Amino acid sequence: MKKIALHWQILIALLLAVLFGAIFPNQVRYVSWMGDIFMRALKMLIIPLILSSIISGVTNIGSAEHLGRLTFKTFSYYVITSTLAILTGLFLVNTIVPGTGADMGLMQGVDNLNITKESLGQTLIHIVPTNIFQAFVDNKMLSIIFFAILFGFFINQVDSKHSNFLKELFNSIFEVMMKITLFVIKFTPLGVFGIVALQISTSPDLIQLAIGLGKFMITVIAALVIHSFITLPLITKFIGKVNPIKHFKNMSTPLLTAFSTSSSNATLPLTMEAVENNSGVSNKITSFTLPLGATINMDGTALYECVAAMFIAQAYGVELSILQQFIVVMTALLTSIGAAGIPMASLVMITVILTQVGLPLEGVGLILAVDRPLDMLRTATNVWSDSCGATIIAKSEGEILKV
Ligand code: ASP
Repeated sequence: MKKIALHWQILIALLLAVLFGAIFPNQVRYVSWMGDIFMRALKMLIIPLILSSIISGVTNIGSAEHLGRLTFKTFSYYVITSTLAILTGLFLVNTIVPGTGADMGLMQGVDNLNITKESLGQTLIHIVPTNIFQAFVDNKMLSIIFFAILFGFFINQVDSKHSNFLKELFNSIFEVMMKITLFVIKFTPLGVFGIVALQISTSPDLIQLAIGLGKFMITVIAALVIHSFITLPLITKFIGKVNPIKHFKNMSTPLLTAFSTSSSNATLPLTMEAVENNSGVSNKITSFTLPLGATINMDGTALYECVAAMFIAQAYGVELSILQQFIVVMTALLTSIGAAGIPMASLVMITVILTQVGLPLEGVGLILAVDRPLDMLRTATNVWSDSCGATIIAKSEGEILKV
């Protein structure tokens, strides 16, 4: 029998899960454990994968000059695409004006939301860990990345006796991690089935919400679609000289996983595998750009934060001046960099924007109910942008890709 391609298996699992969750909401506990195990397995991979991939990536990049050039390109791509995403959102939210007349009755309490007390400055300072093991335990991605880059860089500065040994060691660990990743990927359809069935069985009535918050959802979805299907493909095609349609097909498994899990961090192992094996980007580039991207490049998140903050302002009848809108844009950009690649990370970050422009934090309660479906879409956008960035940077470094 011909084997069904993995992305079709995932898509079928997704559709079956929607049916299962809707028809047998009380039986979902018999299948949700599959999602649980799958998510745990993905999370288990992240830290050893990030650590070994960045260290081996940075050592393979070699000279400080080369590393500097790659960092510059990577950051430029991240800032430019996130800004374009935010501006798309800002344009649509000002045109559609979804907040005026929004149903305030849908407001929910935000007590459970872990509203952040950390200022942006503190977030930046905390990139430098005081205890690297604590950073591992607390999943502090930025700190782990910072340490890994430093470690990789200085491997190249020591005696060749030591540096050769360490290079071999981390390259080998990375190879093993990728093999485990390939093994876990095989279970994606089962994992997706468990995750989505549980979500559907516990999600509030979407039809009811669509009536009350429909315009908000449409604004976010339209902006994400424009960014994912027009802006990013154009950049990929004309700047990267990469075929975006082919690359999109190559990315189907990680994109569907990002959509189902709402976590770009959890999807990272699959993203790395697809960009490297399907689109042919070298390990040197993927291992540096993708872990960074999963943590700091969040186009969908940046866009969402901007639209949500503007929506909340409109719902409260507050007219934001151009200067205040500029603050929203800048804060959305910075907080999207600081946001973790985990479900609902945006919600916490939106409170930072609201504080900056003096809006009530409870405003977040207005969008709480529709956050999950929008989170699925923005996470897929985040992962898509990371993967496009990897191909563009690889091409600019003279690599020959399969796309
Ligand atoms: N869930 C998103 C991600 O992992 C972050 C967010 O909440 O926007 O990429």
